Amino acid sequence: TEKMLMQSEKLALLGELSTGIVHEIKNPLTSIKGFLQLMKAGTINIKDYLTILNSEIERIESIAGDILSFAKPQEKLENLDITNIIDDVMLLMEVQASKKDIELQWNPVKRNMILSGDETQLKQVFINLIKNAIEATSNGGKVKVAVEEEVSSIHIQVIDNGEGIPADKLDEVGQSFFTTKEKGTGLGLMVTNKIVKNHHGKVLIDSEVGKGTTFTIQLPKVESYSKVVDNI
Ligand code: ADP
Ligand code: MG
Repeated sequence: TEKMLMQSEKLALLGELSTGIVHEIKNPLTSIKGFLQLMKAGTINIKDYLTILNSEIERIESIAGDILSFAKPQEKLENLDITNIIDDVMLLMEVQASKKDIELQWNPVKRNMILSGDETQLKQVFINLIKNAIEATSNGGKVKVAVEEEVSSIHIQVIDNGEGIPADKLDEVGQSFFTTKEKGTGLGLMVTNKIVKNHHGKVLIDSEVGKGTTFTIQLPKVESYSKVVDNI
């Protein structure tokens, strides 16, 4: 079935990625091991290195988190109202936004925009995009999410006025492990692309350096039953 195919495609991609993943996890592990050896030998003071050790461990943690969200077993497809999904994600992201005094804007023009999808995975898509938008925006800025209904699809936009993405980097963004952040994993957009593709959708990027970035997710919509009845 289609579902099984998606799962095996994912496993194949994970296989391709595994060399990179092992490498990315090995780096912080090697440095943790090195520090532990120096501490054991009494050459260095433990206290001075706790911050570094902690950030190396956090790096492994975030890589593991991104891989987990990607490797999750079988999707569960349901008819979902995308505006409810975004409501939930906005609540989730509020803590991170408030740390940078960033205002999250979300005023859906209408409700009841139904699509068929996996709730957890779709949430992951918007968590990843909003997280990136917050990270790219300076303190006190705004991140906006907007939704539009087209004839046969729903378009969700995550809009920021942050740093933007240089044109020559647009192709690299979304490739595994491409990151410009010190603590980035470079897995967020790869996971996002994969989930959107599994939902038969598209990811579009519109960005200008210094002006900001808009990610548009286009997903096929499910015609509501009442509408079909209306047409008789
Ligand atoms: P990470 O966030 O761990 O770096 P992602 O895959 O989520 O990994 O993003 C990859 C890269 O794409 C980021 O490091 C950043 O350079 C760029 N990027 C993604 N979203 C934005 C955005 N909204 N504004 C500017 N750059 C972005
Ligand atoms: Mg990210």
